Amino acid sequence: MTSEKTFPRTLLVISAHAGDFVWRAGGAIALATARGEHAKVVCLSFGERGESAKAWRAGRTLEEIKAIRREEARNAAAALGAEIEFFDAGDYPLVESQELVDRLVRVYRDTEPDVVLTHPLADPYNGDHPAAARMALQARVLAQAAGYDAPGEPLGAPPVFFFEPHQPEQCDFKPDLLLDITPVFDRKRKAMECLPAQQHMWDYYTDLAKRRGVQLKRNAGPNLGLAHDTMGEAYMRLYPQVTDVLA
Ligand SMILES: [Zn+2]
Repeated sequence: MTSEKTFPRTLLVISAHAGDFVWRAGGAIALATARGEHAKVVCLSFGERGESAKAWRAGRTLEEIKAIRREEARNAAAALGAEIEFFDAGDYPLVESQELVDRLVRVYRDTEPDVVLTHPLADPYNGDHPAAARMALQARVLAQAAGYDAPGEPLGAPPVFFFEPHQPEQCDFKPDLLLDITPVFDRKRKAMECLPAQQHMWDYYTDLAKRRGVQLKRNAGPNLGLAHDTMGEAYMRLYPQVTDVLA
């Protein structure tokens, strides 16, 4: 059975930890949902071991921290208008497995995404991020195979964009797309504020959005009337853009 598409377009975001999709792709998600599109986030883990230092210092248990981070991520996804699914696969390390890849294939077949966002393939600071990316990419390819045993139709070829890692230069991240997120930046900031476990990131990612906004204006040309306070997110394409018009 082919699942009925009830939304015109779907954005699929595959995130290693609970906060990643917010810092790095919150603007893209909010833009999609503001246009009436469906956005789905798959959170492979809660970042319970590796990205919850504040809760560990406060003496919380692993299960408590997972519950806290789940709630935070759910609130952030709601602030962005996105659906969220948790795989609870564990972090530090996020261990790659065929079972996780198969679960992702089923998400691809079910959601039929038009665009996929995930981590870049290199991150010497955090092995979970490339592990999430490798599984996201492998699942996309398997979901395209007519003979792969999962419900739904074979997937098309949705473009994949890597979102910006925390330290881009070390992750071979060179932006080739700057997304104007000015109209939805307030929603991104609200979503970030749903993550008090990582409060130190709120201003950092606000400042980054300002810098990417300045670069966006520079690349758009000086006379397009873009707002002084243009906010941006940077992305890298994995596959070539397909078009019949150079633009
Ligand atoms: Zn992360």
